[in-house]
Amino acid sequence: MGLEYGAAAGRSPATLRARYDGGAIGRTSGGTGGRPPGGQLRGSYGLFIGGSFVPGSGVFKTVSPATEEVLAEVTHGTTEDVDRAVAAARQAYERVWSVLPGRERARYLLRIARLLRDRAPELAVIESLDSGKPIRQTRDVDLPLVTAHFFYHAGWADKLAYAGFGGTAAAPPNQTLPNQALPNQALPNPALPRPLGVVGQVIGWSSPLLMLAWKIAPALACGNTVVLKPAESTPLTALAFAEICAEAGLPPGVVNIVTGDGQTGQLVARHPGIDKVAFTGSPEVGKEIAKSAALWGKRFTLELGGTSANIVCADADIEAAAQGIVEGVFIRQGHACCASSRVFVAEEVHDDLVAAVRRRMAALRSGDPLDEATDIGPVNSRGQLDKITELARSAEADGAVHWSAPHEPPDRGFWFPPTMFAVVKQEQRIAREELCWPVLTVSSFATPDEVVDRTNSTRYGLSAGVWTRQGELSAWLAARLRAGVVWVNSFGGLDPAVPFGGFQESGFGREGGRHGLEAYLDLPGAWTPDV
Ligand code: NDP
Repeated sequence: MGLEYGAAAGRSPATLRARYDGGAIGRTSGGTGGRPPGGQLRGSYGLFIGGSFVPGSGVFKTVSPATEEVLAEVTHGTTEDVDRAVAAARQAYERVWSVLPGRERARYLLRIARLLRDRAPELAVIESLDSGKPIRQTRDVDLPLVTAHFFYHAGWADKLAYAGFGGTAAAPPNQTLPNQALPNQALPNPALPRPLGVVGQVIGWSSPLLMLAWKIAPALACGNTVVLKPAESTPLTALAFAEICAEAGLPPGVVNIVTGDGQTGQLVARHPGIDKVAFTGSPEVGKEIAKSAALWGKRFTLELGGTSANIVCADADIEAAAQGIVEGVFIRQGHACCASSRVFVAEEVHDDLVAAVRRRMAALRSGDPLDEATDIGPVNSRGQLDKITELARSAEADGAVHWSAPHEPPDRGFWFPPTMFAVVKQEQRIAREELCWPVLTVSSFATPDEVVDRTNSTRYGLSAGVWTRQGELSAWLAARLRAGVVWVNSFGGLDPAVPFGGFQESGFGREGGRHGLEAYLDLPGAWTPDV
């Protein structure tokens, strides 16, 4: 069976609008103020600053990548808007959030987590509409993870002092110090971890709500306040999250959402009132942010791109590996920093693996992201479609052998068929550059040493997968691969308790787990108070 688009199966992407207008999700004609009843998509959104939606001076449209229809008008944050958001975050930090006991912060995070869980079906629909991700992914994978991140970090908020970040036998975590200058006011114990202040967070278009959760949940748990800029092409779930913050009664200014383009992102990242920048996006922008943050002495963490490898050894379960590879790259249209876009397969089983992957690719169904039967949605934006089209052409010109399932894309929308480039040479662009699209490359290897060298020979180092029945071999490979995460006989599993992050141009700093909290805390120095 070839690629089946929604139209062929009687589910034209053109009917999407009618479906979400008519039932899957409500919609108001509302403007920038107030809050629509019961969680609905507004016609236009303001900026979420100081606890409510406020108008800005310019707007842009966010469109469905499946149909190119306008979903909503969104405000373009300017210098003044970012100033307002940072001021609101600073005020909230100093007056409320940083002085609130951890157990109180935890209660807010739990409230947000419960609201996310209650509104998960609606948020999954919005995410699918705006990003093009199939509903099975947003509903069954992203939203449960988003909710889990808030529950997990709520659990940390009142335990930071006991997490090994500070506190000693001489100065236990719950002890304050006597203040000789002002005897009635105890000094906070300097041996305890403290929040950093106002955090500027800028995220990209792949898994937008999940990336927001990775950023906001730990920042708030640690006592920081936030100004977050979502990607220009996927702002809607961040704005729905703003509504949830208001519904949860989160003190005004603790979370601020400023929409806009790259320039707005730059304004957030470079703002002098920001104490730390947390960025998810491309290495190019990440380097720019690192430079300016270093110049201003700001803390920063970078979660950047990758060209993750899946290594299939000769003894691997080929069918399981093929399934893991297809899920690792195609099921999210390749729109993931950890998409397994480079497959290295042992020479002996190369043909078997390629055949098994092709069989699965041919069975994938592309189409309406809101359809339960859809495996692959559209590429997220016209710009991304242009990039992958250009790179695919250059790969063909370089002699890479390419195969994609036959398909007839709809007239509108940003569609690219799941594609495999086999017989790829290491020096070709397609083998070296990040592929954040439904594309993978396959090449064979002769020995474990060779595959380690080839896997590590990129400027990235985010994640990798190893497929083998031999425990020793998987441990040997995992220890040598320069990747922040290595999955064995599976690919892409995430958990809020497990730190995620990369080496080299994949960034630095970790998100998730105890390691992720460190990035949002000022850790005590070597001085131990003698009390
Ligand atoms: P970009 O770097 O282009 O953009 C990321 C964000 O930064 C967007 O909000 C963007 O705004 C904004 N931005 C653009 N230019 C600047 C600037 N000069 N200063 C500050 N902010 C700016 O990345 P993409 O949106 O293309 O995201 C895809 C990338 O993200 C891929 O490389 C992917 O691998 C990586 N990624 C990494 C993850 C990880 O955990 N390591 C997770 C998910 C994705 P605008 O949208 O308007 O351009």
